[in-house]
Amino acid sequence: MALLRNVFHPIVADSAGLRRYVTSVTILALIVAVGIDVVQSLLFFTTWLDIVREELITTAIVILVAVPIARSMGHAHLELFHAKREADRLGRTDPLTGLANRRALYEAAERFDGGALALVIADIDRFKRINDSYGHAAGDEIIKAVAQRMQRDLGDLGIVARVGGEEFALIAADLPAGELRARLQRFRQRVAEDPVAYARQTIGVTVSVGFAARRDLDFDALYAAADKALYAAKNAGRDRVVEYDQLPAEALPRAG
Ligand code: GH3
Ligand code: MG
Ligand code: MG
Repeated sequence: MALLRNVFHPIVADSAGLRRYVTSVTILALIVAVGIDVVQSLLFFTTWLDIVREELITTAIVILVAVPIARSMGHAHLELFHAKREADRLGRTDPLTGLANRRALYEAAERFDGGALALVIADIDRFKRINDSYGHAAGDEIIKAVAQRMQRDLGDLGIVARVGGEEFALIAADLPAGELRARLQRFRQRVAEDPVAYARQTIGVTVSVGFAARRDLDFDALYAAADKALYAAKNAGRDRVVEYDQLPAEALPRAG
């Protein structure tokens, strides 16, 4: 059964897989060819010497034909495997920053089981102004720089993704109280203190950050909560970190 699976549903992911595929195809071809030969020899009452001679010839022919054909088909399987994996990777990667994209973020959230999940949304402040003053290419460099800094400062906590033009998200397993807030403050501060060098200019950047960490919310609700906190950070003057749970009561969703 394993032999048939290796031939008809092969997984050729590396050179060991390629060897396994070529060997399996060759063995199957040999079994079929030699089997047919033996049956035919027995039916026509050939001598044992003739049978042995015929089987040796059949074996040689099968090996000469099957091995090169199986090798070229195996290489095709191998290329297909790598192409699929690359397409998968590209489908989950943001091309500008190399971060995970929104789809990858949602898939990671689905895989997360148990415990509290924290969701952070960081958005570059007054980014439209940066685009207008320095040009779109400069804007792209700023997006890349903020992506790198977020990955550098917060990447160890979970998955950092680019979820919109100048908007990033992090999902992390919940940290002890206050620790996530401190890490986010440090990230925000480092972005503000370190302008981005672009075309012999330095461009100051700040980010606003909203986050939510609650056990009682599903991912969509958690996202909405973090977004609300981000909105509050923008309203309060930008360049700050706001936690959903610390919003005034009237900003929290009412029961019913
Ligand atoms: P706020 O502080 O409220 O977030 O203001 P903002 O200007 O950052 O927000 P707004 O949503 O008004 O503007 C975001 C701009 O980002 C608008 C859009 O043209 C620009 N943008 C979106 N995607 C890209 C991108 O990939 N590259 C560049 N350079 N700009 C982008
Ligand atoms: Mg913005
Ligand atoms: Mg935005």
